[in-house]
Amino acid sequence: MLGDTGRGVEGRPNAGFVVTAEGVVVIDALASPRQGEQLLRAIRRVTDRPVVWLVLTHHHPDHHFGAVVLRKAGARVIAHPDKRTLASEGGEDALIADWVRVVGLDAMRGFEFADAPDRPVTAADTLRLGGTTVVIAHPGGGHSPGDLIVWLPREAVLFAGDVLVEDGVSMVVDGNSSELLRVLDTVSGMRPRVVVPGHGAIPARPAELIGRTRDYLTGLQAEMRAAVERGVPMRRAMASLPPADETRPVSLNSRRRRNAVRVYVEEERKYMGLESP
Ligand SMILES: [Zn+2]
Repeated sequence: MLGDTGRGVEGRPNAGFVVTAEGVVVIDALASPRQGEQLLRAIRRVTDRPVVWLVLTHHHPDHHFGAVVLRKAGARVIAHPDKRTLASEGGEDALIADWVRVVGLDAMRGFEFADAPDRPVTAADTLRLGGTTVVIAHPGGGHSPGDLIVWLPREAVLFAGDVLVEDGVSMVVDGNSSELLRVLDTVSGMRPRVVVPGHGAIPARPAELIGRTRDYLTGLQAEMRAAVERGVPMRRAMASLPPADETRPVSLNSRRRRNAVRVYVEEERKYMGLESP
């Protein structure tokens, strides 16, 4: 198995796989073809059964740029059809160029886009494979419009994607903070025994991570709402936050700042009556 990199949310994303009598279901494909190959080798150390499905929790590059490797190994892709993210706004060539700068050209060898779903899921879908039940559901667009969560009901194991990350500061720049709060209610109602977050270590107590994420989001909403109500411009509302780390777009400070910008706009829209709370 690939272990936690110990680098929290800035470390390698998480991926997982479920071995059933009828084949393997993989959840997420990591950030490059090279990482996809590492994942496939990790699977092969455990089982030689065919890889039948790859479920993508969302369409951020660090979770699906290794998908081509699993596809070549025979997997068909289950994903939400909505692939819109801020990262792809500059077009696919710009997205790949940016990503090559992050992981290096070598790690991207053999890359091609492979995140288009063979089996699209927009509400919920259930796989029954070799006696194992795997539920795949769109909980809402909290982290991104194409979010999916993967739930093993019998084992009470939840693959949360980036809805949850190790330190509780889930990104909402491609999603919506109120929507993410509703997703957290859904997830908490499932009472998972084990939660695999999108990045970082598996929490000892899932409810605690869900609670911490909720507290962070409601706190940020309250802070930004107060600023909007007092007519404080965004720039000044942001002044209380530590500066973003220039070269580390997903460091804690960078995430908190990027989320604050997004939530300020959300609160402004709610204040003007353009968005429902
Ligand atoms: Zn993400």
